Amino acid sequence: MNTISSIISGKKNQGSSHFVSINPANREDILGTFASATLEECKEACLSARKGLEQWKRTPAPVRAEIIANFGKLIQKNKEALAKILTREMGKPIKEARGDVQEAIDTCNFFVSEGRRLYGQTVPSEMQNKELYTYRRPIGVFACITAGNFPFAVPSWYFIPALVCGNTCVWKPSEDTPYLSYIFAELLYAAGVPKDVFHVVFGKGPETGAHLVSLVDEGLIDKVGFTGSTEVGKKIGEICGRNLQTPCLELGGKNPLVVMPDANLDLVTNGVIWSGFGTVGQRCTSLGNLIVHKSIKETLIKKILDKVTNLQIGDPTNENNFYGPMIGERFLKKHNENLSNLVKTHHRLLTTKHGTITEQNKDNNFHGNAQCGFYAFPSIVDNVTENDEIYSTETFGPLFNILSFNDIDEAIHLSNKTGYGLSSAIYTTDIESAYRFRTEISAGMTSINNSTTGAEAHLPFGGNGKSGNGSRQSGIWVVDQFTKWQSVNWDMSGKLQLAQMDTNYI
Ligand code: NAD
Repeated sequence: MNTISSIISGKKNQGSSHFVSINPANREDILGTFASATLEECKEACLSARKGLEQWKRTPAPVRAEIIANFGKLIQKNKEALAKILTREMGKPIKEARGDVQEAIDTCNFFVSEGRRLYGQTVPSEMQNKELYTYRRPIGVFACITAGNFPFAVPSWYFIPALVCGNTCVWKPSEDTPYLSYIFAELLYAAGVPKDVFHVVFGKGPETGAHLVSLVDEGLIDKVGFTGSTEVGKKIGEICGRNLQTPCLELGGKNPLVVMPDANLDLVTNGVIWSGFGTVGQRCTSLGNLIVHKSIKETLIKKILDKVTNLQIGDPTNENNFYGPMIGERFLKKHNENLSNLVKTHHRLLTTKHGTITEQNKDNNFHGNAQCGFYAFPSIVDNVTENDEIYSTETFGPLFNILSFNDIDEAIHLSNKTGYGLSSAIYTTDIESAYRFRTEISAGMTSINNSTTGAEAHLPFGGNGKSGNGSRQSGIWVVDQFTKWQSVNWDMSGKLQLAQMDTNYI
């Protein structure tokens, strides 16, 4: 198999070292060998993007949007094939993979119209014969680093608006899903995005990722987008901050789901299973802390365990399997490490089997090749308190905590105290409880009687606190992140006019 290299100005570069992308369901099927981009190659990509900016920013926004419309049509045409590759490279069940690809189509459809709506404003002046206007201008070269859990949806949330707004892009995709990223880029070129407008540099985070971000210090990058862990996000935020740049930081979560005593427990059970174990718990919006009123805790636990026992786990290409393998070995190792630590702390581990699924310990409901893939059992830990480390540590795997509470004040306190603020949910039939939770939760996203997960292409997505710096993805608000305002003062009076108001001498 040929090595796939970074795409800089449409040309394939050599790279310094190589890494492979494998199918996590069997560890054998290799999707490709990839050349890691060096610092010099990252620099080359940024310089080419700066050159490409000159023409791209002058291309009328509706024309840029038409190119993105072509991209959307190409994705639509190839949707099933793309979903199959996504499942093969990342391990997400095929039904979810279709949703991941569909999110990119929805985002294209949404931003195609925004290309015709990049409005400025006319602003009334205090003086006669003077016109004031505002224009939206592109930010410039946008460098973006992404995680591998939503390999089509998340890049589309970044690049579709960035390109429609007239920016040029350099992308360091996750080392877990480079093949799909390569296809993403090829589809953009096929749609008509010029080769010097979009570049991909492959490689691992501490090497290629760090090289790319270091170029902020050299003035080669105007804006950074990062989706990944809070730990890495902080490092990236520091580099951007010292250059007076505001990055988009979309980071981790420890999402609470509160169950009030009046909730419909069948509805709750479905919501908990989906929030906790959908995508093997590898979503930023996955359930972290299940916070249950103490009067109903044991009843709810029984219902959840009944469901968990019947979950079909295995081959992600099988339409009936609920979840497949974890994205890669490092995620499975971390999950097993978390479980070993919990056993040591003598918490109440509720699921009957823990750790990696193997041929020796697999359940009847396992449908796959356990010995080969990165499979993990669904896990739940009970009797967690706010003093335990696991309460405020993101686990990013099929594991969530259970905590109990006495009243809504305590439930809200336990929901907010982790320091994260991404997603959240409350299940209740009481309007007052729902209202209090909605108004007092510090998360960027809140569900009432629904799971902690979910996104729509026109609704802001993002978090606060340790989950991000307040940037958002999706919806018209994103245009503010990818454009800067220019104010224009056009005086047609033919003489110097001084405003009458004190405030106008700035
Ligand atoms: P990660 O932070 O390890 O890696 C994310 C990306 O950053 C990868 O492309 C990686 O190569 C790169 N990277 C790693 N170290 C780097 C460094 N020092 N400099 C520059 N780049 C570096 O995260 P992960 O484990 O791959 O992904 C899971 C995390 O992503 C979880 O915390 C999850 O919650 C988060 N996530 C957040 C969102 C969101 O929208 N808030 C969405 C998806 C995933």
